[in-house]
Amino acid sequence: VCMLCGRPESDLDVCGPMLEAHGICAHAYCLLFASSLFEHAIERGPGRWDFPIENIRRVIEEAAETHCFVCGESKATITCQESGCDNSFHLPCAVEGECITQFFPPYRAFCREHRPESAVEAAPGDTTCIICMEPVGDRQSYSTMVCPACRTAWFHRSCMQENAIHAGIVCFVCPGCRERDLFLLEMLTMGILIPLSLPSWITNDSPELEERHSRCDARQCLCPGGREQVEEEGSWQLLLCCSCAAEGTHRACSNLGDSATSWQCAGCA
Ligand SMILES: [Zn+2]
Ligand SMILES: [Zn+2]
Ligand SMILES: [Zn+2]
Ligand SMILES: [Zn+2]
Ligand SMILES: [Zn+2]
Ligand SMILES: [Zn+2]
Ligand SMILES: [Zn+2]
Repeated sequence: VCMLCGRPESDLDVCGPMLEAHGICAHAYCLLFASSLFEHAIERGPGRWDFPIENIRRVIEEAAETHCFVCGESKATITCQESGCDNSFHLPCAVEGECITQFFPPYRAFCREHRPESAVEAAPGDTTCIICMEPVGDRQSYSTMVCPACRTAWFHRSCMQENAIHAGIVCFVCPGCRERDLFLLEMLTMGILIPLSLPSWITNDSPELEERHSRCDARQCLCPGGREQVEEEGSWQLLLCCSCAAEGTHRACSNLGDSATSWQCAGCA
C-alpha cells in the first residue's frame, strides 16, 4: 500500500504509478501533494524531482493521527494550503470531498471551502455537457465547469478529466471553441490532471525515491573525516558522476583540482 494515502495500487489516473525505494512505497501523485513535501524536492533536471527520504518519513509520521475530513480515516497527508485551515484528506478522497489538487508546481491542494472559484461569470441555462450530452445542472459548481474563452462550452468535471487523460497536454483544447491557452490554465487551476504536465521522473523506470548519493567511492578515500564527510567547497567537496549520479568522489580522492566541477566514475568513463 501507499504509505501516504494507505490505499493499495489504485487508479493510475488518480494516484499515478506506485514508486518503491528505501523501504518507502508511495504513489507518485501522493508524493507531489503531501503537505510541504514538494518544497523540499530537489530538481535533478528539467521537470525531474527527487524527494528526500527523511522528509517523506516525517510526513508519514506526522500524518499518523491526522484524519481525512472526507472519509474519516487517519494518515491524511494532504492539507489545505489556505493558511489557518487544517482540513486534511487523502488524494483518492479528493473528488468525493470536492477538493482541488493543482497538477503543476508547487502542487497546491485545497479543501472544499477554500478551493479556487472560476473567475468566469456565466450560467449554463438549459445546457448539456459538450462531452457526454447529459444536462450539466443550472449553475457552475465543483462538478459543472465552463470554458473561460468561449463561455458557451459546458462540461462535467469528470467528463473533462477523462478527456484530458486521453488528449494529453499537446491536444488539450476546448472541445467547443478549440482555444488552448486560457482553457489550459483554467483547467489546471481548477484541478484537472493533464498527463505530460507531470515531471518526467514519474515515467522513468529507475527507482525514483533514490536518495542523492552522498559518499566518496574512490578506491582509496583520503579524506580525514572519512567517506561520508562532505564539504561545501574545496578538496572535500563531493562530485557525483555526471553520467550515473550513483557514484561519488571527493575532489582530492580522484586527483581533481579545486576548480573541477564534473567527474565521471570508472564505470561510465
Ligand atoms: Zn497514495
Ligand atoms: Zn480519505
Ligand atoms: Zn481549507
Ligand atoms: Zn458530461
Ligand atoms: Zn471554449
Ligand atoms: Zn574521499
Ligand atoms: Zn557513473
